[in-house]
Amino acid sequence: MPVAEQVCPHCGASTRKLKGKRPRDVKFGAAQHHRVTATYLQRRYKCQECNHTFIEKNPFVCRYLRLSKTNMEYLFRQLGEKGSYTEMAKRSDVSVSTVILYCSKLAIPRPTQLPTVLGIDEYKGNAEGQMYQVIITDLNSHSIVDILPKRDTQALIQYFKTFSKEAREQVKYIVMDMSPLFRLVVQTMFPHAHIVADRYHVCRLVDWALERVKLLKILHISDDLRRAYGLRLAFRKIFKIYSIPNIERYIQLWLKAVESSHLPEFSNFKVSFISWFPQIVNAFVLAYSNGFAEGCNNNIKVLKRISYGLRHFERFRVRILLLSKKNSTSYLNS
Ligand SMILES: [Zn+2]
Repeated sequence: MPVAEQVCPHCGASTRKLKGKRPRDVKFGAAQHHRVTATYLQRRYKCQECNHTFIEKNPFVCRYLRLSKTNMEYLFRQLGEKGSYTEMAKRSDVSVSTVILYCSKLAIPRPTQLPTVLGIDEYKGNAEGQMYQVIITDLNSHSIVDILPKRDTQALIQYFKTFSKEAREQVKYIVMDMSPLFRLVVQTMFPHAHIVADRYHVCRLVDWALERVKLLKILHISDDLRRAYGLRLAFRKIFKIYSIPNIERYIQLWLKAVESSHLPEFSNFKVSFISWFPQIVNAFVLAYSNGFAEGCNNNIKVLKRISYGLRHFERFRVRILLLSKKNSTSYLNS
């Protein structure tokens, strides 16, 4: 920084008198996967009125901090985007705990207004000892009004009490799934609003009832179906069994049940169960499955759609492998 007139932060007098300079390492974050650090020679000035010394004004970095002002702005911007703390820490060249510290410095005040059409719902968040958290939405603008830490009657009533009576009277419709807890809260705090049961929730209840009727009817009309259903239920219990000898014994028992069921559809694969016995035991001993590859296949489908199909196999292969690697620079050297 050039020598320039400075204003003393203690008494407001102007000065150009230097007191010395000191190098500071400033982190500018990662650019194109390389960390950028610059050394800034920071001047100290001395006020000739009050004798205090102070550092010069600069556009790079705040007092006591090690990351640059632009990097800090970038970090705050990243907090508003998708991505993990680890990724943000890497991009800003700081530790994960610094990212978390900056995130906890942010405070978003509670809203003071409520929407005309309000949605209230819960989600399983497991935050701070509470299994369920509550989400309040504006169903006209499709935006989130607020997130509440606790799903309990008292906490919800306390929350809505913080809004003025006028703000609460703004709400004309409140949509919820068929939760007695939410209805009680809403009837207490919004006596004039119309409560709407979420239509998909209602339909799902009807669908489930239908499924149960279908299942019972089917099981009722046919011994074979009943036995097949029993075999299927029994087989799924294998997930609750641990250790190789127990799983082996369980599969043997289950195959005996298959045999006595006299269901040809089940007996037909008995041969493959016996020929694949050790490998099938492994399927339930080890938690490995091809679920990962199936997830990749989904990414591949997307890539196929956005590139030009599979015509050039090698290029397509490169893109798939690059996409799946976090650090892909090693491919360039070979
Ligand atoms: Zn001064």
